[in-house]
Amino acid sequence: MTPDLAGLIRAIPNYPKPGIVFRDITTLLVNPRGFRRVVDELVQPFAGRRIDKVAGIEARGFILGGAVAHQLSCGFVPVRKKGKLPWDTIGQDYELEYGIDRLEIHTDSVRAGETVLVVDDLIATGGTALAAIRLIERTGGRIVGCSFVIDLPELKGAERLRERGHSVLSLVEFEGR
Ligand code: AMP
Repeated sequence: MTPDLAGLIRAIPNYPKPGIVFRDITTLLVNPRGFRRVVDELVQPFAGRRIDKVAGIEARGFILGGAVAHQLSCGFVPVRKKGKLPWDTIGQDYELEYGIDRLEIHTDSVRAGETVLVVDDLIATGGTALAAIRLIERTGGRIVGCSFVIDLPELKGAERLRERGHSVLSLVEFEGR
């Protein structure tokens, strides 16, 4: 039997702070059929298409994006938090609820004209994904899609990406934030 993805994701109320329901995918990843199914569903729309790189956003986007890149036989680009990458980087600031953070990629990780699929576990406001998109676009890479396991539609991140012309895939939607 194929497992129900939504049922395999653990909801942790008031984590990391009051009012937030943290959507924990470790319960999905630890389930062999669940992990396989989620990767298959992220890969399926892009099978047979020309994808040069998958860009996975730290940290859960690494687990999913690495598996997706392997299945699509393409390269993997880690999009990391500030100061973690050892070589020359470009960075992009983005707004959090309180303050500003920064994502970085290596300058030589995407070449002009390459096609890139962005992968993360969850899209909420879309600020993180938009910073990753911006970074890749600054290298001359072309975004072919943005894929997430979870969308929180009330926070309108997927809507923001679609308004900018990006193709957004999500497998599960949850109400609330
Ligand atoms: P955002 O930039 O608002 O779209 O937030 C997306 C990023 O924050 C992703 O990397 C998620 O892993 C993380 N995130 C935001 N909200 C949640 C949540 N409710 N549960 C788990 N992760 C979250």
